[in-house]
Amino acid sequence: MQTIQRTLEANKNIALVAHDHCKASLLSWVKENREQLSNHKLYATGTTGHLLAKETGLEIEPMISGPMGGDQQIGAMISECEIDVLVFFWDPLNAVPHDPDVKALLRIATVWNIPVAINRASANFIFSSGQISQKSDIDIPDYDAYLRERI
Ligand code: PGA
Repeated sequence: MQTIQRTLEANKNIALVAHDHCKASLLSWVKENREQLSNHKLYATGTTGHLLAKETGLEIEPMISGPMGGDQQIGAMISECEIDVLVFFWDPLNAVPHDPDVKALLRIATVWNIPVAINRASANFIFSSGQISQKSDIDIPDYDAYLRERI
């Protein structure tokens, strides 16, 4: 796969998602990082977004709830380069009804090479990096070259 560079602006578009058993963990992490997060544009799946907005006062644009299609909405935004960072506290210990959507979201975030935090440790690593508040380049698939190869 050929790649091109995509520049992530200093003010990032960040998607926040947490499965039910992980919402308390994400909420406490968001509270700890509230000031830094307020510098960015925040999106979230429905229930996560409403909970975080209510508890922290942060401005968060909610998608539909995850099991109702919200994961797929976030995935579509990633494919269109509208999300720069995904914070997705997914549950490794409990089954969810929308497991195919969960896999699809993680897969598409990998295809488009965005930073993904899957737990507090990885979220802390990503948000303590200078790159979260600076312009930074990532390699993404060269979609025009991909099409040329296939048509
Ligand atoms: P929710 O969705 O924020 O609406 O609970 C999260 C998820 O994708 O499971």
